[in-house]
Amino acid sequence: MQNFKTLDDINPAGQRVLVRVDLNVPMQDGRVTDDTRIKSVAPTIKELSDKGAKIILLAHFGRPKGQFVPELSLKAVIPALEQALGQKVAFAADEGALDIEDDLNSLSNGDILLLENIRIYPGEEKNDASFSKKLASFADLYVNDGFSVSHRAHASTEGLAHHLPAFAGRSMQAELEALENALGAPKTPVAAIVGGAKVSTKLSVLTHLVEKVDMLIIGGGMANTFLAAQGKPMGKSLHEADLIDTAKNVFDLAEKNSCEIILPVDVVMATDFAENAPNRSGDIDTIESNEMVLDIGEQTIEAIINKLNDCATLIWNGPFGAFEMKPFDNGTITIAKTIAALCKEDKLVAVGGGGDTVAALNQAGVSQDMTYISTAGGAFLEWMEGKELPGVKALLK
Ligand code: ADP
Ligand code: MG
Repeated sequence: MQNFKTLDDINPAGQRVLVRVDLNVPMQDGRVTDDTRIKSVAPTIKELSDKGAKIILLAHFGRPKGQFVPELSLKAVIPALEQALGQKVAFAADEGALDIEDDLNSLSNGDILLLENIRIYPGEEKNDASFSKKLASFADLYVNDGFSVSHRAHASTEGLAHHLPAFAGRSMQAELEALENALGAPKTPVAAIVGGAKVSTKLSVLTHLVEKVDMLIIGGGMANTFLAAQGKPMGKSLHEADLIDTAKNVFDLAEKNSCEIILPVDVVMATDFAENAPNRSGDIDTIESNEMVLDIGEQTIEAIINKLNDCATLIWNGPFGAFEMKPFDNGTITIAKTIAALCKEDKLVAVGGGGDTVAALNQAGVSQDMTYISTAGGAFLEWMEGKELPGVKALLK
C-alpha cells in the first residue's frame, strides 16, 4: 500500500484544518443539480467536525482565472453543503484580499467555514509559494480530499502539503486504495476495457495499458480506428483515419508485451446517428459505405464476457457504443451488468471511471456493485496513463 497519512493519524480537536474538497458541482439557476461530489467529501468533513476540528474548506468553482467573478461564487453551494452535512456552514465572503482573520477567529470546535472560490486568487493556479504560505498560516493541518483535482499542481492541491502536515481525507484514501488494488499489485490476469469515442483522446492510456495488463478490450468508436488499421471497411463509422499508424503501433506494443487485444467481431450498424434508428447486426466485414457502427454485436458481447470470466482484475474506461441512444446501449449495459455480477460474487475486482462511463454504469443500475467507481474524470484518466499525480505525490510520506 502506498505510504500516506490519513485521518487516523490526526488528533484534530481544537486545531484548524484546511480541507481541500471538490465542490465543482453542476448548477442551474443558482442551485446544485447533482450533489455526488458533495456527498463524496461529506464523510471527511463530518469526521473532522465530530472530532472537534475547526474546518476551513478550500474548493474551486469554474474558471474565474485569478479574479473575483460573482457568478462563480462558492456561496451558492452552501445550501446543498449544509443539507449533505446536516450542519451549518459559514462563508468567508472575500473578493480577493484574503482578509479572513475575523471569520477564522469566530470558529469554535466542530465549526465549518467555506472560503470563496480558491481560483479567484492568482496564486492558486500558479502554485505560488507565498500564496501557499499565506493559506498555511490560517491553519495547523492540511487534509486533501479532492482526488479529482489532484492532477493539478495548484496551491490548494499541492503547494500546501509543503507547508503543513498533510493527510488524505476519506474519499482520497478510498480512491487511492482502490486504484492501488487495481494496478499497484493486482491479482492477475488483469484486463482493461478502453472504449468511448476517439483514440486521439486516450492514446497515452492505450500505450500505458498494453504494457501493464494481460488483455486490452477495445470498444466504442475507438475500436473502429483499430479495425480500420486491420483493413476492415468502416463505412460512415466514427474513426480516425490519420491514427491508423498509431493503432498499428499499439498492436506492435501489445505483441511485445504479450498483451492480448480484443476487438469487435460483429457490430450493430445504422445509417443514421439517432435514437431508435433502423439498424441491423452483422459481421464487421459486412459494413456498407452508408452504414455506421453504433454498438458491439451479440457474438462480441459473448466473447468479452467469456474473457472476463477468466480475469481477476479489470479497469474500465469508455462505453462500447453510443449508449445514450437506444438500442445502442445494449453492449455497454449487458457487459456492465455482467461485470457487476462478477464483482458481487467476489470473482472480479473491477474499477471504472470517466464521465460517460460513470453515466453508463448508472444507466445500467450497477454502480453500487462495482468494486469501485471513480468520479474523478481527468485525474482518473491521468492515473490510467500511469502518470504521477502531483496532489497525490505531495501526500506520500
Ligand atoms: P468517458 O467519458 O467515459 O471517458 P468518452 O467520452 O471517451 O468516455 O466516450 C463516450 C462517448 O463515446 C459517448 O458519447 C458515446 O456515445 C461515444 N461512442 C461510443 N461508441 C461510439 C460509436 N461507435 N460511434 C459514435 N460514438 C460512440
Ligand atoms: Mg466523456
